[in-house]
Amino acid sequence: MQFIDLSTQQKRIRGAIEAGFKKILDHGQYILGPEIGELEERLAAFTGVPYAVSVASGTDALLMPLMIEKIAPGDAVFTTTFTFIATAEVIRLLGATPVFVDIDPETFNIDPNKLEEEIRRVASEKKLKPRGIIPVDLFGQPADYQAIQAIADKFNLFVLEDAAQSFGAAQKGKKAGALAKVAATSFFPAKPLGCYGDGGMIFTDQKSVFEELLSIRVHGQGADKYTNVRVGINGRMDSLQAAVLLAKMTIFPEEIELRQKVAARYQQMLAGSVKVPRILAENISAWAQYSVRHPHRDEVIKKLRENGIPTAIYYPIPLHLQAAFADLGYRKNDFPLAEKTAGEIFSLPMHPYLPEQAQEKICQIISRF
Ligand SMILES: *Cc1c(COP(=O)(O)O)cnc(C)c1O
Repeated sequence: MQFIDLSTQQKRIRGAIEAGFKKILDHGQYILGPEIGELEERLAAFTGVPYAVSVASGTDALLMPLMIEKIAPGDAVFTTTFTFIATAEVIRLLGATPVFVDIDPETFNIDPNKLEEEIRRVASEKKLKPRGIIPVDLFGQPADYQAIQAIADKFNLFVLEDAAQSFGAAQKGKKAGALAKVAATSFFPAKPLGCYGDGGMIFTDQKSVFEELLSIRVHGQGADKYTNVRVGINGRMDSLQAAVLLAKMTIFPEEIELRQKVAARYQQMLAGSVKVPRILAENISAWAQYSVRHPHRDEVIKKLRENGIPTAIYYPIPLHLQAAFADLGYRKNDFPLAEKTAGEIFSLPMHPYLPEQAQEKICQIISRF
């Protein structure tokens, strides 16, 4: 059994991918070829935002909007402690300070009440300037954007949606990627929409942000390649990756539906034996991961492994306890809910093509605990 099965998917679209690659080999525009513009238009339309900019990775997709906000030393950017390192890494890369917030252990997303408390604390200390919030749509479920945007408005902060795991998800009928003024997603192969290498995309409804992103993506270029009007990066996605994503988009909406079916079966079969994730009524998750909690996680994982069933732990260490952020001075017990979750959580095989019999086997083994 595979944790994520990309080969079944590939079999469905192999012809389209090869045709796309052949076209690129023929026209030779490996960088910013026509596939790039086509993909950006396609995904902007899918997401329901006016502007989409493809980039080299999800990490660059988070970094570039922060560069536009001129995030710098002395600034505080608030985010969840229970996420992948990249969310906070980009804040630190610009010399600013990530300020971590505890989670709602039912949804695994940032707790808006605790977010407001942290912003008030930092504002009253007057050591750092509160600038923005990066909510993460963890495991594919959108964070609580209504509550978060209200807090952002109160303190005049920007919101950057980390939709790296939630492409294809929705909240109140709006797609992930459209839930804040600027959003970042990732096409790392294991994400709900993955390419065959690294890639990412930024979504925005702001024309000025869009134009600045196009410049930052190519070393801060101005009117032409050798006029540089700002400091940028090499942040481009290559044409081959765009071809893969264009082929995958033909079946992506169907795959999101299939993920709902797989998740619904898990929710039903596992409800009595582990703590299953709670999806808010206003949300549709992209189910990047199906993550559950059990107080004896390691024993459950071991039993599953003995039966040939792979699992993964996202995330064993919350970011405030990572050595990379030791200089921020956080301690154990600073965020008890995230820490408890990190000790109990594990993820089960999840992909659109997971057979029902495989799920039954998984759930039977788990229910014996
Ligand atoms: C994967 C991921 C990223 C980074 O994406 P890359 O494409 O790997 O750079 C950022 N944030 C979260 C929450 C992620 O899961």
